[in-house]
Amino acid sequence: MLLSGGIDSATALYMVRREYSVRALTFEYHGIARQELRASESIASRAGVSEHRLVRVPDLREAGDIPGGLFGGLPPTYIPLRNSVFYSFAASYGEEVGASVLVGGHNRDDLEVFRDVTPRFFSSLERAFRAASPILDKNRLRIVRPLGRMTKPKVISLASSLGVPLERTWSCHGDGKAHCWKCDGCLTRRRSFAEAGVLDPLSPGRGKIT
Ligand SMILES: [Zn+2]
Repeated sequence: MLLSGGIDSATALYMVRREYSVRALTFEYHGIARQELRASESIASRAGVSEHRLVRVPDLREAGDIPGGLFGGLPPTYIPLRNSVFYSFAASYGEEVGASVLVGGHNRDDLEVFRDVTPRFFSSLERAFRAASPILDKNRLRIVRPLGRMTKPKVISLASSLGVPLERTWSCHGDGKAHCWKCDGCLTRRRSFAEAGVLDPLSPGRGKIT
């Protein structure tokens, strides 16, 4: 499965590990917060994945780091064709180990922003990977998004009930010792915990909007 240091993929991991033996894949793209990479390692270790692999893609940049980039309406954290690239690495890994399922932690809110998280996109990818690989075709490869119908607050409620180590997750776009509580990532985290009625173990405001 694709694992970042964020809450969504950690929650998806805790859902699927009940059913599958899980291997995790994390991407180190240009400018990613070191804290996020540390968070992904920590979450993978706590969840007991059978392998955690780091893929280095230093030439892959977020829209905000691409001078003159035109990505109308998409947030500065968008990476051009991100999921086409990331899932291709995941499918390659899947072919290597004979996987039948690829898992991503995309939630319903992502669907309103990104085209590369839609059912249409993922069914096209499944077809492409099966067409390319006799192994993945034989395994009837599926791309599963267990959070696809949930908003972020719903995901947080579920994470809390599953025992996801929320104190190990990282949502900040900065790379300080602690969350800055000023960037979009931090503000969304604070708002979503408040809406879910769950106390954020990391928030100095303990999950309340201030
Ligand atoms: Zn922040």
